[in-house]
Amino acid sequence: MNKEYDVVVIGAGILGASTAYHMLNAHPDMKILVIDREMVAQGNTSKSVAMVRDTFTSQPSFALAASTIAAFKEIDKETDGAIALNRMMYLWLFTSDQTAKNKPAINRLLGAGVDVELLSADKLAEYASCMRLTPDDEESLAYGIPPIDSGLLCRNCYALDPIAVTQYYIDKFRAAGGETLLGKEVIDFVRRPVTPLCYEGDEIPGQPFSTQQQQAAGVKLADGTEIKAETTIIAAGAWSRELTDKFGKGSLISPKKRQWFYVEGNDLAPLLELPAFGNEDGCLPFTILPQGIYMKASKEGGFYVALADDVGREISLDTTPERQYFIDDIHPFIKGYFPAFEAVTIKAMDAGSYCYDEIYRTPVVDWIHDGIMLVSGASGSGIMKADAIGRVATHRQEVGRVSNMQMHNYLQLPGDLIVDIEDYSIRGRSRIEPEQLVI
Ligand SMILES: Cc1cc2nc3c(=O)[nH]c(=O)nc-3n(C[C@H](O)[C@H](O)[C@H](O)COP(=O)(O)OP(=O)(O)OC[C@H]3O[C@@H](n4cnc5c(N)ncnc54)[C@H](O)[C@@H]3O)c2cc1C
Repeated sequence: MNKEYDVVVIGAGILGASTAYHMLNAHPDMKILVIDREMVAQGNTSKSVAMVRDTFTSQPSFALAASTIAAFKEIDKETDGAIALNRMMYLWLFTSDQTAKNKPAINRLLGAGVDVELLSADKLAEYASCMRLTPDDEESLAYGIPPIDSGLLCRNCYALDPIAVTQYYIDKFRAAGGETLLGKEVIDFVRRPVTPLCYEGDEIPGQPFSTQQQQAAGVKLADGTEIKAETTIIAAGAWSRELTDKFGKGSLISPKKRQWFYVEGNDLAPLLELPAFGNEDGCLPFTILPQGIYMKASKEGGFYVALADDVGREISLDTTPERQYFIDDIHPFIKGYFPAFEAVTIKAMDAGSYCYDEIYRTPVVDWIHDGIMLVSGASGSGIMKADAIGRVATHRQEVGRVSNMQMHNYLQLPGDLIVDIEDYSIRGRSRIEPEQLVI
């Protein structure tokens, strides 16, 4: 093939950037190009609430997240804090049913040495008297808001600046000779026949024919340019499906709207001063209510609140935030448990998309066809797993390139964690246990 690049990565979000960086780091001789129709990290990476945690009950997710945290700590040190990694604990609030259901998984986490503590309702009351553990006001009763029975406090958790992390990977990638092409949209793929047909010494025009075995051989841009590459990596986040659909291959992943609301109110101040939890800045931890609503304190004095709804939320790329969603679906519950939210006002709101593996909620790092790898489907935890996903993609590429050398699927990640990259393949994932701590 008349190739220009060994690898073209579509997408300069955190997953494309990490993949390009790790691939070039492992193979400095490779020619790698990252293409994005926007600038660096302007997709859903910039919309993220930017929390990272190692608290996952399934091993494949735990390993990606714990190793990424280990890597982010190193990057934060190396850049003198440029990625703004700050400890912010998670607090999952459970009803009695949820406590019972999650107990075995929590015991496994504790047994594995993960830094978590199950706080009783009494302890929660002592740590945060502003929390109403049994919402018994008229409105809460009408909404059937159940009492809180326990809280899982998770300590190896952080907030960070995801744009700065992505920029770190891109800067390192460029410094090592990697190339970027920004402001250019990929609209299709170059396809070629695996075995070109010839007649009287010349290739027959119009190939590949539908009857021929085909492989991807690069990308076509909206301006008509073709860029040839041995491997094309689709790391286009929620838009990845548009590209896999274009190629005619299924990919397991779907986009769903995810929105946040930034609210402020005069009564919120006590929630920012709860030092008993041990957060770096003394505020309420990043808290997840039993209904999945989550809230993150901001240095500006307000809270980001959000809810990842499931049934009834269509699979689409729509990203218009809905004020009424906050009013109807979020506010009654949040003020039920935290009356300080009664009189808050929305100061800002935004929406992006999660890119889900609808069944297993586990990232997809796999070949979808000869010459095309998909690195996507992070299912709402792409920031917290980004470093490890880039390493898995690199290993997947190596396994693909030297399969005749019987390279194995196991990969050692930072933090002494070992993963089987088959767990992130399209077919191999059916054996993994469903994750219980999903937001
Ligand atoms: C509201 C919200 C809150 C979130 N909170 C968290 C959180 O707290 N923690 C966490 O870990 N994750 C969180 N996430 C998820 C996280 O943001 C994503 O998992 C992560 O950003 C995915 O990175 P990505 O690189 O795959 O996608 P993106 O950052 O979206 O990057 C994809 C890139 O591909 C480019 N692109 C797409 N199509 C094309 C094309 N045809 N041609 C050229 N370029 C193209 C886009 O411009 C974009 O830059 C949140 C997401 C949302 C929406």
